[in-house]
Amino acid sequence: MTSAVSFQKISRHFGSVRAVDAVDLEIAPGEFFAMLGPSGSGKTTCLRLIAGFEQPTSGHLEIFGETAEGVPPYRRNVNTVFQDYALFPHLNIIDNVAYGLMVRGIDKASRLKAAGEALELVKLGGYGERRTGQLSGGQRQRVALARALVNKPKVLLLDEPLGALDLKLREQMQEELKSLQKSLGITFVFVTHDQGEALSMADRVAVFNDGKIVQAGSPEDIYRRPMTRFVADFVGSSNVLPPDFSGTHFGQAKWTSLRPESIRLSPDGALSATVISRSFMGAANRLLVERDGARLHLMLPASQTPPESGSEVRLAWNASDVHVMEGEA
Ligand code: ATP
Repeated sequence: MTSAVSFQKISRHFGSVRAVDAVDLEIAPGEFFAMLGPSGSGKTTCLRLIAGFEQPTSGHLEIFGETAEGVPPYRRNVNTVFQDYALFPHLNIIDNVAYGLMVRGIDKASRLKAAGEALELVKLGGYGERRTGQLSGGQRQRVALARALVNKPKVLLLDEPLGALDLKLREQMQEELKSLQKSLGITFVFVTHDQGEALSMADRVAVFNDGKIVQAGSPEDIYRRPMTRFVADFVGSSNVLPPDFSGTHFGQAKWTSLRPESIRLSPDGALSATVISRSFMGAANRLLVERDGARLHLMLPASQTPPESGSEVRLAWNASDVHVMEGEA
């Protein structure tokens, strides 16, 4: 099957900065794909390469089987939803949404009809006459989405589109975006530095670091089987344990990862440890414990009374939750 987006050894260097460094990547048609990584890891540059706002320094890029190098952004059948939405303040909502169609020479009646339908899709039917200044942040985000969708792109690029929203609205929009993507069947490529967002929304996640993809896979894969310390730590703050500790307590002298929620307190647990601190998190209590100089976090359900700081506890876990990492970095 032809990939929606295919990166073949793509690099983008800015002087001595390797923003994107020999990346290979295949994104399937209809996939909700997240690019996750810390600031400066190269995610946005990858998105801009797909959009056509950047050209690769080397390598080959295809969009639905067609060579993308040299093809200008407006000829790519790709649209971007920017983090700051980039709406036109002097136009009302419907004209903002219809703008791309006007530029393409679509007649007024057709473009207003299409823009109206796009606004219905993002649940803003009836808001067409308003100005952007008369909308909430969440509504502006929806307008930006409608403005991209009206062009019926084959690939929709989203650059931290929920970054400006408060947590509640963010969670609501995550669900809406996901169901919209599934119903439209458009390939979504989503950039975020929020691991929870990537895990909850995407079919597949690529974790970036230093211009490279360090691991790509399903959210479960990335979370349960991180290949490197970096991935284990970045995706869900795991307990990353060094080889000497793992050798003594897990039987394998390699870097290992053990998720906080996989550890329980049990009188017959295999490992004793000292409680350093505890914090109330609402649905759970997070404990920090120490053993042999290694510090581990664990999550206790709020229904369980947490032990006092300084007390001794015994820890238990299932052997299958101890994940030995293949990579070192
Ligand atoms: P963020 O989450 O902060 O947006 P990111 O992972 O999207 O980060 P990029 O914006 O792709 O990262 O940047 C990757 C690297 O390339 C950074 O070191 C950045 O400073 C550099 N970079 C990006 N664009 C340019 C440019 N036009 N000129 C010079 N350096 C650039």
